[in-house]
Amino acid sequence: MVLPIGLGRPVRVFIDPGHGGSDPGAIGNGLREKDLCLSTALVLRDMLQSEYQNVEVRLSRQTDVFVSLAARSQAANSWNADLFVSIHYNAATAAARGFETFRFTNAPARTRQIHQEMHRVMYNQAWRGRTPDRG
Ligand SMILES: [Zn+2]
Repeated sequence: MVLPIGLGRPVRVFIDPGHGGSDPGAIGNGLREKDLCLSTALVLRDMLQSEYQNVEVRLSRQTDVFVSLAARSQAANSWNADLFVSIHYNAATAAARGFETFRFTNAPARTRQIHQEMHRVMYNQAWRGRTPDRG
């Protein structure tokens, strides 16, 4: 498969598993957010590398280590990443469950198109039928 972005060259996807090391993120139900983020990121990396063509992937961390927010964004920018995918598992009441993605409100039209397509692909491939789509 090919990521539906249409750059005409390999797409550089920078995957950022949230938290890590001394920062566990949300904790609940015997789970730590940092662990869920890392395992999801590794699965996403493997899927992108095995099922998609013309994709290059890097991660902000591949183990349980702390990486500052500045170091994460610097690594992505110095690599000239096309997409920065930061993965988090938010904690909330059961009424707020579901899959959601975010981008800058005032992002250019092309970024909005890519965001909408990536949201659709990720939700349909990983979450449809398992959790609500919160948009
Ligand atoms: Zn988080």
